[in-house]
Amino acid sequence: MYKKIIATFLLIMFFCVGCGKQDEESVETTLSQIMKRGQVVIGVKTDAYPFGYLDKNGNYAGYDVELGKLIGKKLFGAGGRVKFVPVTSSNRIMKLYSEDIDMVIATMSITKNRAQILDFSNPYYVAGQSLLVRANSPIKSLRDLKGRKAIIVFGSTSEQSLRGAVQNLGIIGYRTYGEAYRALKQGKADAVVSDDTILVGYALKDRSVKLLPKRFSKEPYAVAFRKGPESEGLIHAVNTVISEETRNGNLRKILKSYGIK
Ligand code: GLU
Repeated sequence: MYKKIIATFLLIMFFCVGCGKQDEESVETTLSQIMKRGQVVIGVKTDAYPFGYLDKNGNYAGYDVELGKLIGKKLFGAGGRVKFVPVTSSNRIMKLYSEDIDMVIATMSITKNRAQILDFSNPYYVAGQSLLVRANSPIKSLRDLKGRKAIIVFGSTSEQSLRGAVQNLGIIGYRTYGEAYRALKQGKADAVVSDDTILVGYALKDRSVKLLPKRFSKEPYAVAFRKGPESEGLIHAVNTVISEETRNGNLRKILKSYGIK
């Protein structure tokens, strides 16, 4: 399924690159579209506390959302003018290419495969994959999953990293992290495998599950864009926000306010 989506995007991408070459002058940049529209539209998670979620008043909140607001401020001044659109791990690339959104800020790691069809900003955070297990579980590492079952969220890097990594591992997929967590609680599998940053939220609010301390991957989070020259100006603007807000300590402060290390 994921491969099919990637293949479709690759086709679209080659088609678009071709168009650009024929008529480069007429390619409108994403940045100029955003400025004309008077609003930047950003895809964020609603199931990835504390990076992207809905607070108790139903407002978008989290570190990724705050970064989106800083980007809005850079483009439009204090008023921001950001519209957030919910995305999941499996539909975020599709939403970008269907032009529902201008960029994705959704716990998304830079990977070689993704870089073939997407452009990325500089990284703004580094997470690592780990395991969420039931509190009484004997599982202590990835290897202990041998012959057992693991839960992943479709479209995430753990879907890729688990394939072939553990012998006789059964893999069950869900669309959202909430569904994955509930399935673990119901005993449908032995662990949820994903980024520590997302899984720790569940371990903090529910003592019947725990996050294993060992990380077994590096997940550099970055903002994702449609691949191509039309994204260049926007990527430059976003990279400027990331470097300025890192230098002035603002991003660190926001991380702290969400309890993220
Ligand atoms: N960072 C990983 C990824 O990009 C896992 C988190 C997610 O599902 O977004 O796939």
